[in-house]
Order: sequence, then structure tokens, then C-alpha cells
Amino acid sequence: MTGAVIVGASLGGLRVAEGLRAAGYEDRIRLVGAETHRPYDRPPLSKDILTGGKEPSDIIFRSDEELTAKGIELVVETSALGLDVANRRVQTTAGDLEFEDLVVATGARARQLPGSEDLDGVHTIRTLDDAESIRESLRRGSRVVVVGAGFIGAEVAGAARALGLEVTVVEAMDHPLERAVGREAGAACASLHIENGTTLICGVGVDRLTGDDAVQSVVLADGRQLDADLVVVGIGVQPNVEWLDGSGVDISNGVLCDERLGAAPGIYAVGDIARWANPRYGETMRIEHWTTTVEQAAVVAHNVANPGSPRECDAIPYFWSDQYGHRIQFAGRATEAELVEIGCRPDVAAYLALYRRGDTFVGALAIDGTVALMQLRGRLMSGADDFEEVREFAESLGGSNA
Ligand code: NAP
Repeated sequence: MTGAVIVGASLGGLRVAEGLRAAGYEDRIRLVGAETHRPYDRPPLSKDILTGGKEPSDIIFRSDEELTAKGIELVVETSALGLDVANRRVQTTAGDLEFEDLVVATGARARQLPGSEDLDGVHTIRTLDDAESIRESLRRGSRVVVVGAGFIGAEVAGAARALGLEVTVVEAMDHPLERAVGREAGAACASLHIENGTTLICGVGVDRLTGDDAVQSVVLADGRQLDADLVVVGIGVQPNVEWLDGSGVDISNGVLCDERLGAAPGIYAVGDIARWANPRYGETMRIEHWTTTVEQAAVVAHNVANPGSPRECDAIPYFWSDQYGHRIQFAGRATEAELVEIGCRPDVAAYLALYRRGDTFVGALAIDGTVALMQLRGRLMSGADDFEEVREFAESLGGSNA
């Protein structure tokens, strides 16, 4: 019995495995992961694990007993090395694994700042081990420089400030999270940094890091020099596709998949690595959000268990990010969209904005406005896209014009 092999034992891989069992899949399921840990939840890595609000054991998804009870065979400390599509085999560091269905869930790894690889005190954050070593440095009371004001940068800065440390964030774009939420909302996110005592430097890149063995400073492209004992680099990720090289699977910017998340017959991808044709938008997209991974995993589990009645994945991008005790949430798409701020009572949201493309409602962002944002996300899901109608609805939630 060859069954299903799922390569990548994080959120996406685990959810596919569990979804398969829930859908009545009775064959063998092997969940293969490179790390030593059982699957764990990554969002706390850049927040509660750093501050000590959570311990590593708190973020492990399932015990060995729970996995065994579901008939999920977890294979840890094992990396995939290659894929032989014709012979239905994955080559791994622990030998070849035969499969009937394969799910590629190997995610992405943090991009490194060129030239920083051999310097102590410079970290990226993707794994529990990464987070634990940053936590140790934070406890030593370091002067912290964070490179990149995306999700990782903003959340790590918030955690370091919560610990009372001196923090500088350097961002190449003009505003934090600009690519994700646009300039205006990026400016709103910038104020969270500033109000919380973080020094935010935008619109300038990093030229180099100095130090012999350990980092001493970060030199910016404009010549400024920032002293640092700890540098956390959050400048995006690159998909872990190298093991698929030569397999025939298209690995340009992730694994290219059809609407059903299929990359080849009986081969699927989920999570940060999947670049799929989203039928809702009529374009391919690779989304690095927790919720999208969960939605994709449900579709893949269904499609593996029910090949005769496959489903498409039409997920609407959605993320949340916890920064300095505030929750930023976004649903939809901000690209090529105009932002319209909704004057809001503080009990509805500290900040609420809608995104439009012409007359079409395409997205919403809230800071500390979960109820409002979830209702607007519901509008997107239901296909209600008349901008004026949605604006009226949003203002009825407590807008200044109401
Ligand atoms: P990210 O969100 O893509 O942000 C990286 C930021 O760094 C971008 O604004 C980027 O600008 C900037 N940047 C790139 N090169 C730079 C440089 N040399 N100097 C200064 N700034 C630079 O990536 P991330 O924060 O590293 O997060 C990594 C992954 O973790 C993502 O997949 C993210 O979704 C995930 N994550 C998500 C959450 C959440 O959803 N709450 C939390 C933590 C992590 P450009 O866009 O111009 O490159």
C-alpha cells in the first residue's frame, strides 16, 4: 500500500493529512518533515515565543498519540531530495518513498541578507529553533536592529519593545507592509511603530553589516550606521522548490498548480509554495498566509480522497498580524486598488479602510476592528462587490457619516 506521501510537515501538510482521514481516506499517509519537531504553529514564533508568553510545547499542534490515532505516520528529520514522477517516488535523505498521491507542502525559507551568513547575532526567523535563539538574544538585553518592516519585522519589533529593548526598524519601501496593504494603510501601520517607541527608518536599504565574528552595526545605503547586538532580518522568503528541479513540475516562483491545486496527475501543492490559478481572480497567485494554507489543504484533501468530484480553490487572501498589542487584519487584494478610509468610532475599529477598483469593492483592512473586518470579509466571500453599497454598510457599522 503506497498511499499518500505529504512532503512538508507544517500547517499545510498536517491539515491535508487530517483532512484526508476526515474525508474517509483509508490508505497509508506519510507526513515527511525536515525539522526535528512535530508540526507546530508558526504565527507565535515572531510574537509570544519571543516574549515568553508561550513556550515551545504550547505551539505543537498534535501529540504523537493523536497522530498515531489518526493513522498519520510522521517521518521527522527527513528532507526530500528529488521527485521521479513517472515511477511515483520521492527521493529523501531516509531513502525512497513510493506514493500514489503526492502533496508538496515544503513551504519557503527566509531570504538572507547577502554577506551576513557568517556573522553571529544575525538571525532570520522561520523555525522554532530560529525563534528560540532570538529569544535568548532578546533576554540578554540587546540593541536590536530589524531589517524589513513586513510581517516578521513589525512583529519582532513589537515583541522586542514589549521586553523594553531599544529597537530600530529599517525598511526599503517608503512604508511598512506597503506591498501587502498599500501606501496609505502602510502609513497607519507606521504610526504603530512610532507610538510604541521604535525608531522607524523607511525608504533606505542596507548597504552592509559590520563586525568580525559578531555583528556590530548595520550600515545603511545613505551612510548612516546603526549599532546593533542583534539583527533580525525579515526581507521575505523564497519557496523551497529545489528538490523538484528536473522533475518536470513547473517551479517558477513556487509550484505552478491548476485551479484544483494539481501540479501533475496525483500531485498537488499547498501553502507558501503553491502558485495556483485562483478562479475567483482569473490569475495565478502564491499567497503566504496561514488562512490560505488551511483553505488550500481542505481542497487538496478533498481532491485526493474524491478524485471523481474535484473542487477548485477560490480562496480570498486574508491575514492578521499582531503588532504592539494591536491586531491588523486584511481581506481581499490591495494591488492596483484605491483606498477609502472609513471614519470610524473607536469601538468599531481604530482604523478601517476599504479598497476599490473603479466601482468594485476588492478588499478591507482594519486595525483593532475584528467584527467589522469579518463582516466585510463575508461580503467579499458572498461576491457582494458594489463599492458604494459596501461603503454604506461599512459606515453603518459606526462611521462618522452614519
Ligand atoms: P514580507 O512580509 O514580504 O516583508 C519583507 C519586507 O522587507 C518588505 O517590505 C520588503 O520590501 C522589505 N525588504 C526587502 N529587502 C529589504 C532590504 N534589503 N532592506 C530593508 N527592507 C527590505 O516578509 P517577512 O516579513 O520576512 O515575512 C516572511 C514570511 O512570514 C512571509 O511569508 C509572511 O507572510 C510570513 N509571516 C506572516 C505573518 C502574519 O501573517 N501575521 C507573520 C510573520 C510572518 P520589498 O517588498 O520591496 O521586497
